[in-house]
Amino acid sequence: MILVEVYTQNPIAHNQKLTYESDVEIPTGCRVLIELRNRQIVGFVDRCYEGEVDFETKKVLEVIDDEPIITKELFDLAQWLSYQTLSPMIRCLQAILPNPLRPSKSFKAPVIVRMIRLIDVDETLTPRQTEVVEVLKKQGEMPYSDVHQKDKAIVRALIKKGVIEQYEIERDYEEEIVSATSEHKKLTADQQKAVETVTLNNYQSYLLFGATGSGKTEVYLQIAQKVIDQKKQVLILVPEISLTPQMIERFESRFGQDIGIYHSGLNNQEKYEQYKRVKENKVNIIVGTRSCVFLPFSNLGLIVLDEEHDPSFKQETLPYYHAREVAHYRAKLHNCPIILGSASPSLESYAKAIKNVYTLITLPQRINESFPEVKVIDMRAQLRQLKNEVISQELDNAIRDALDHKQQIILLLNRRSYSPIVQCQNCQKALECPHCDTTLAYHKESNAYICHTCGYSQRDNTCNHCGGKAVMMKGLGTQRLEEVIKHKYPSATVARMDADTTKRKNAHFKLLNKFQNREIDILVGTQMIAKGLDMPYVTIVGILQADASLMHDDFSSTEKAFSLILQASGRAGRHDLKGSVYVQSYLPDHYAIQYALRQNYIGFFQEEMNYRHQGNYPPYIYLCEIVLSHTNLEKINELAQRLAYAARNKGLNTLGPAPLRKLSTMKRARIVIKHKNHAELLEMLHQIHEECEISTSNIQVIFNVNPQQLSI
Ligand code: ADP
Ligand code: ZN
Repeated sequence: MILVEVYTQNPIAHNQKLTYESDVEIPTGCRVLIELRNRQIVGFVDRCYEGEVDFETKKVLEVIDDEPIITKELFDLAQWLSYQTLSPMIRCLQAILPNPLRPSKSFKAPVIVRMIRLIDVDETLTPRQTEVVEVLKKQGEMPYSDVHQKDKAIVRALIKKGVIEQYEIERDYEEEIVSATSEHKKLTADQQKAVETVTLNNYQSYLLFGATGSGKTEVYLQIAQKVIDQKKQVLILVPEISLTPQMIERFESRFGQDIGIYHSGLNNQEKYEQYKRVKENKVNIIVGTRSCVFLPFSNLGLIVLDEEHDPSFKQETLPYYHAREVAHYRAKLHNCPIILGSASPSLESYAKAIKNVYTLITLPQRINESFPEVKVIDMRAQLRQLKNEVISQELDNAIRDALDHKQQIILLLNRRSYSPIVQCQNCQKALECPHCDTTLAYHKESNAYICHTCGYSQRDNTCNHCGGKAVMMKGLGTQRLEEVIKHKYPSATVARMDADTTKRKNAHFKLLNKFQNREIDILVGTQMIAKGLDMPYVTIVGILQADASLMHDDFSSTEKAFSLILQASGRAGRHDLKGSVYVQSYLPDHYAIQYALRQNYIGFFQEEMNYRHQGNYPPYIYLCEIVLSHTNLEKINELAQRLAYAARNKGLNTLGPAPLRKLSTMKRARIVIKHKNHAELLEMLHQIHEECEISTSNIQVIFNVNPQQLSI
């Protein structure tokens, strides 16, 4: 009997494989249709073998794919990922495959195009029919939809006659013609050295530590050129969708080819088309965000992670992977270099560079040799003068001056909504989400109170505590900031860029294009405007509430604040015009702010590493956060106690269990585990997972290894 073991997305199966019977051998990596509990679902074949089992097996209903939809490398990668992140294999496969290929409860076919072509011309044809046949002769084959409306009847008649045949193909990507318009720049001595340091055809990690505007991208371009000459593939990872057009533009204009692109803004079909382009080796440079690291490359010659410190490289849902780790895995397999670039490297990466695990390359100078002038504005003084202005006097002067000179301004406020907190005027309590332990934020555009944790939204402003109606808006969000700025500078064109204004497809690109073309004078937004943008006319950057993240007591919040200020100030004065940065803060003396002002990464690194050492936090140790959630708190506590006991029993440094905020009606608890050795930690986590029978428990348990921050 031929037995087939499949992975399914089914809660009762968890990470177990299910066994079915088949009449034929089915290769690993094909999808099959199977029946489970009287329902048809899609399964993913892990292996097929001749054998017997002592339980009853059902037959595979249908084999969906003729050949595996995943390469051997990616299948192995899924298994590695499943081990590294303690996630079910099916979730790893789903993360790796583009939507139309994902094994899930059902499956969606990619878009099919109806094509026609000539097969026989010996028939006697009418003059009109001959016309159509002549067109097809020239074209060879064409999509039926391209046939002119008036000719459709003729085509149908010809199909009937057997002159034309119709058939179906999957829609393919249509390559665009791109011309090379940008020449190689003559490299500076530092850049030259950087390019020469990177050895091709050899797995080695490089940390390219270069100030903002120091010419890192030019270094990527010139190394990529060498890789392309070898006919190998180049993968460029960027942290944010909004950064892809800029990177694409620079690569396309240099190499004169239609560069591959892959990010969450593409629809399913577009993702699938890009996936196929890579799989069929039709494109050799790909730019994209996190999930791009899973594309089916066959011949990688270089991986670049630009802005490698950025937290968005870590996926914060199952599987909890970090694109940097996956990139290392793939670079090693393809035996190629990986370059991590940043002006404010993650502590982890810089620590590795110091220990020579990564080769450190530095570009200390800005190409235009001028760093922006950075000023910190003490907002406490403003408070003392009872001024409750959003924009300080100094920043206001600078904005007016820049507007007078037709220069552009970026204002960063890392909080969306109109008002992040809405308070009852009667009892002073905040409006809260009925499903989570979080406050609701007011969004003026939709006139709704929205939970940023679970997405819940209500129009009603009745206080849950006293039934009072009148509410007060507390705090400042980007919507309100936009309103304030429009009011304050009526002659300026103001636009806002945050998660709310960029929901629609291509909204990012449209906004940035307008800004690039100077149709916008002042751009207000969240951290998405702080990253990587290279706009020559931006002279003023204002960072409002720069200390907001310093108020959190998470181990990583200082690093985040430092990096945000450094990155944001890197947006000003990148070209010929001199730039100034205004950092408004209630904690102006905080070391993160002080080092960021002086663009002193090394100073910050040393001081922050001291704190990490004292607190026993990464990069000195490896962390794993285990979060349990269920509606029943007793059940959570029981399992959490057992988990913590098992961890302590293995000698692991274990904190908790501690309660967390309720989220989407789920009560939650957390355990934090710290350990010196990564491999050992993983091994023990798997043992604990097994001992506590996590895969058959009905409590949701998430292991987040190397979390970017701890849950609250
Ligand atoms: P980074 O990626 O480090 O922020 P970029 O590569 O974007 O820096 O370089 C900043 C600016 O300097 C860009 O406009 C770029 O075209 C320009 N540039 C980079 N290298 C050179 C060079 N060697 N000569 C002249 N201009 C350069
Ligand atoms: Zn909620």
